[in-house]
Amino acid sequence: MRKLMILVPLLALVGTARADYQPVAEQVVDNVYAIVGPLGQRSPDNDGLNANFGFIVTAEGVILIDSGATRLGAEKLSKAIRTVTDQPVRWVINTGSQDHRWLGNDFFAEQGAEVMAMARTAATQAQVAQQQIHGLERFLGERLQGTRPLPATKTLVGGPVTLELGGETLELAYTDAHFPGDAWVWLPKQGVLFTGDLIFVDRLLGVLPTSSVRNGQKAFHGLEQLHPGHIVPGHGRVCNLAQARRETGDYYDFLVGTIGAAATEMEPMDATLDRYSDLPQFKHLENYDSLHRANMNRAFLEFEAAQ
Ligand SMILES: [Zn+2]
Repeated sequence: MRKLMILVPLLALVGTARADYQPVAEQVVDNVYAIVGPLGQRSPDNDGLNANFGFIVTAEGVILIDSGATRLGAEKLSKAIRTVTDQPVRWVINTGSQDHRWLGNDFFAEQGAEVMAMARTAATQAQVAQQQIHGLERFLGERLQGTRPLPATKTLVGGPVTLELGGETLELAYTDAHFPGDAWVWLPKQGVLFTGDLIFVDRLLGVLPTSSVRNGQKAFHGLEQLHPGHIVPGHGRVCNLAQARRETGDYYDFLVGTIGAAATEMEPMDATLDRYSDLPQFKHLENYDSLHRANMNRAFLEFEAAQ
């Protein structure tokens, strides 16, 4: 009993000392910046910023791509932008509806930013909001304080959609890979593509129950047609097309071409998953051990359901 009483205050100390991850803005090219978050899980330390974000400094203010998972996370992103420019954030564009893409919207809207997304992205945000807040409570505890889900208020219909601000042109197009309504943001002038949760490098991509590997593969092929010079992936370091191909494109091709094909041919699922559990070309990627089998499982189910 005595031991326990000593342990508790120590643990409380560790708990407060952990919250110190500060996102850093790195220049991609010209006036385009990326903020590359850690590869691991959401934590009180990273405030749910375990993903990538980006911003473009224009003559008429800053365009932020994705707003972080919480109010505190959004404040940290804002601080990272301040190290580069004093211009206000005029626009926030959400590439998706996963928590880290949009739950910081409310903070930036309060500061005067217009929050926009493709129409289906915003619709999915509204649908998943409560469930995501609930999920984050488990990882972040009290660091979730003040977070209020605000789905994008300006919704863009159709697609692809072209936007212009301060002499910069952005093109949004649906990918529908990780969550329904996910999109990318393409900067034709700079040749930079913010892929949202379509591309993962350095770590294995995650296939969620909401994901479609068929859409992922299709979107990846569309991405190749753009010939981007710089790719800011959803997770992992800024990369080129060759690395995106190796670490994500080839994996979508495997999930569709091998696992999807096995499901279509009504081969037994467990035996199929066993057969492909060891893939040397992806094994070096972080999270491979925890995600690969579940990814194959979900890809299999997607194709089985399509029968
Ligand atoms: Zn993500």
